[in-house]
Amino acid sequence: MSPTAVDLGEYRRRRDFRRTREPRGGRRTVSTAGGRYVVQRHAARRLHYDFRLEHRGVLLSWAVPRGPGAVGERRLAVRTEDHPLEYADFEGEIPAGEYGAGKVIVWDTGIYRNLREEDKDDKKASMTQSVEEGHIAVWLEGKKLQGGYALIRTGRGKEDRWLLVKMN
Ligand code: MN
Repeated sequence: MSPTAVDLGEYRRRRDFRRTREPRGGRRTVSTAGGRYVVQRHAARRLHYDFRLEHRGVLLSWAVPRGPGAVGERRLAVRTEDHPLEYADFEGEIPAGEYGAGKVIVWDTGIYRNLREEDKDDKKASMTQSVEEGHIAVWLEGKKLQGGYALIRTGRGKEDRWLLVKMN
């Protein structure tokens, strides 16, 4: 366990690593100035796109059924368990019968900046604060996605529901 409180417990509980080739995680990495992001297209029982942001040694993760949209389009994003950093490079077939069975490909990847960190007014917030407040704003520099995206928490019932919105 790293000092940044990496917790992959839920991730590991859901998976049988004798059966799936997904990474178990646990690589220690030196944190970098820019975080990495990845969007994986996951042809599970229901096709969706997994949107992941590197933060404090894990990938914060959301399942976005319709994938990222155009400016102003709101896309449901259900927060899922934190994934290990190694997952950003994972592509392959999760076997039938296992959690998330189906094909995963890296649909887009790049780096992101926390826009709220750069805010000049009193709304300035770290990524940790942003997650707690349910209001994340990032600038993506990827191969497919570029520009500002916001993630806004809309409800925390049975699911931790957010909206993914491309900003102007
Ligand atoms: Mn998924």
